Amino acid sequence: MDKKKVEVYRKRLLDKRDELLRMVSKSDQDGREADEEGTQDIADKAANAYTKEFLFHQSNDNRQTLALVNEALERIKEGTYGVCVECREEVQTKRLEAVPWARHCIECQDKQDQGLL
Ligand SMILES: [Zn+2]
Repeated sequence: MDKKKVEVYRKRLLDKRDELLRMVSKSDQDGREADEEGTQDIADKAANAYTKEFLFHQSNDNRQTLALVNEALERIKEGTYGVCVECREEVQTKRLEAVPWARHCIECQDKQDQGLL
């Protein structure tokens, strides 16, 4: 992949990383605030547990994406960005446009989604 294209993706990845870091720290904070809001009757407790559950899953997703974004930035450093980690073919541009931190090309992602990898 040519350097100019890589640079475009690198900027997108860095923006995404900032965004994810903000969201992760915000949901950590929201989780703590949900804890600190005292005066809990049963309904409050249920609502609070639900909020925490929701925040937990949301921040888990964000953390997973964050890890993938960091991996993609590492691959840029190593010069292997845009190459499928499985079959070593180039990842399709339309796939990188949609998911700049993609590790797999479309074919390998399909296989992984089906549990074949
Ligand atoms: Zn592949």
